Amino acid sequence: MRGQRSLLMHSFHVDDSEVTLNVCLGKQFSGGTLFFRGVRCDEHVHSESQPEEIIDYSHVPGRAVLHRGRHRHGARATTSGQRVNLLLWCRSSVFRELKKYQKDFSKWCGECQREKKERQRLAVGATKLELFKRLHKPTS
Ligand SMILES: [Zn+2]
Repeated sequence: MRGQRSLLMHSFHVDDSEVTLNVCLGKQFSGGTLFFRGVRCDEHVHSESQPEEIIDYSHVPGRAVLHRGRHRHGARATTSGQRVNLLLWCRSSVFRELKKYQKDFSKWCGECQREKKERQRLAVGATKLELFKRLHKPTS
């Protein structure tokens, strides 16, 4: 189990692409499952996954997967047979240039999104508490 975990961690990564096309060409195999663990910005690439971000995908010859390059993923070992996949990395120089000036990645980074929601939750809580205090102020 320990060995499996370290293998899983070893192959876990993001691609240096905006979009990746992964086509399974064959042949006959077992294993080689792709696993996805949420989309992340540079800062949050090592953050925890949320349960809803845990996705496993088994390759089927003749089918392709299209995913964001920033979608953290890895491939488990092919346990038997031979697996052939074609990988195509699509890059956008415009996206990369724009990213340099952006600070808010909450539209696509799961962790930025989670942090933003948490900040909003705290702000709403503080406002509610303030209103409650004002309403229940002793009138002496
Ligand atoms: Zn982020």
